[in-house]
Amino acid sequence: MKHLLFVTMLLTALFVDAQKDKKLTDKTVEKASIAAHLKFLSSDVLEGRDTPSKGQLVAAEYLRTQLERYGVQAFDEYPDYYQPVSMEKVVKPSAGTIRLDSILFSIEEDFLLLNGGDLDLSSSMVFLQDASSDDIKSADVKGKIVVTNAGDGETENARAWFGMMRNKQSAAKEAGALALVELYNSAQLPWSLLVRYFSGERVGLDQGDSEDSFPVIWINNPNQERSELFVSSDSVDVKTSGSEITPFEVYNVVGYVEGTDAELKKEHVVFSAHYDHVGIGQPDSTGDVIYNGARDNAVGTVTVLEAAKNLGKYPTKRSSLFVFFTGEEKGLLGSEWYVDHSPVPLNEIVYCFNSDGGGYNNTSLATVIGLKRTTAEDLLIEAIEAYGLSAGDDENYKEQGLFDRSDNVNFASQGIPAPTFTPGMDAFDDEIFKYYHQPSDEFESLDMDYMYTFYRAYVLAGRMIGNMKETPFWKEGDKYYEAGLELYK
Ligand SMILES: [Zn+2]
Repeated sequence: MKHLLFVTMLLTALFVDAQKDKKLTDKTVEKASIAAHLKFLSSDVLEGRDTPSKGQLVAAEYLRTQLERYGVQAFDEYPDYYQPVSMEKVVKPSAGTIRLDSILFSIEEDFLLLNGGDLDLSSSMVFLQDASSDDIKSADVKGKIVVTNAGDGETENARAWFGMMRNKQSAAKEAGALALVELYNSAQLPWSLLVRYFSGERVGLDQGDSEDSFPVIWINNPNQERSELFVSSDSVDVKTSGSEITPFEVYNVVGYVEGTDAELKKEHVVFSAHYDHVGIGQPDSTGDVIYNGARDNAVGTVTVLEAAKNLGKYPTKRSSLFVFFTGEEKGLLGSEWYVDHSPVPLNEIVYCFNSDGGGYNNTSLATVIGLKRTTAEDLLIEAIEAYGLSAGDDENYKEQGLFDRSDNVNFASQGIPAPTFTPGMDAFDDEIFKYYHQPSDEFESLDMDYMYTFYRAYVLAGRMIGNMKETPFWKEGDKYYEAGLELYK
């Protein structure tokens, strides 16, 4: 009986807390301010907020002004709320040849430069079947070019070969080799797709070292028909030209609100979203060339603004950290940079409540990618249901791997529980593709009644996590559970 009474009291206390958080949520989240933020961020004037672009800078100015207005503090390191992110634009070589004996290969048609710039190499080769790190270490490769097959001879997934290539690359570099050449033979990922992916321009982080400049070449080797040539030849000439690397700087926008509890304020909850999009591109059937990115990701950006507005006024027990990422569309770059340069140590960040949306097709839902993976699950459901919505996850389209495709994954892989909150999406269907990365993803097409409900659910959920009794964590057995133990030990 006593036990039952205690449980009842506890539940009542929790209920009262949640009621209080809901009241405070309703006090600040307003339809008009949501609409104004969304309209501004997805306006044509910002030209799709590409990385880098003037439009994105204007968006950043807007975000930091709002943080200031909402009473969010700037870090000493970043007094104007701007965290500089060093990036580079890399233009791949436009011309190049590889010569073996009398055979001449040309760039794109026969080979691709995955790493490195302009080359002029003339060297002997060492052929290693699959070139494990040990193989490379024990062979005499100093001053030579290492030639091997792409992959490990077992894994058929060509995408996994990229990671294996990185290992061989560092082993070859370490052993003093001049370059790594891999013979590429995969039915799964055709050569033409690789060419499209690795040619032209690419934007990446500028890590300030030359780790990435060690040359790596993939040679098209359909049905292994060129293997014999590489095994039997002694030397090779490689020439490429026309590459260019231009460094530039863009910004994550960051700030914080201190928690109210003497102990719990040492724990931080991150409210994050990427504010970049893909800029100007191919015209659609109406001739529109501006990819406004209202759903992707003005909607997510405004979740963070609405959280800042609320928490700046009514802080939770835990401290709140607000982060707007640049460069998500170029490969999750801003968030990768953030976790390497966080002004708050990562083991003091207990949760990352990210928001990123490709779109929605079900206005009775709020979708949380990773809903069931953290101990905040019940609380997220409670917050969502408090506004008459149901909580959904990515059950119906798990194969899309969305959890690992947005900024939250850079926090998750460090061990920080990090789901992504997004408008209701119960399938990857035509309603999503109608707007996903299209010029038609504009403010006018958003259902503002739904948006208003969605934002209140997000802010309430964020408040409840900030006040949650237990520190949220991964559920046991999760892919990132061990990383979490390691981070917070
Ligand atoms: Zn996005």
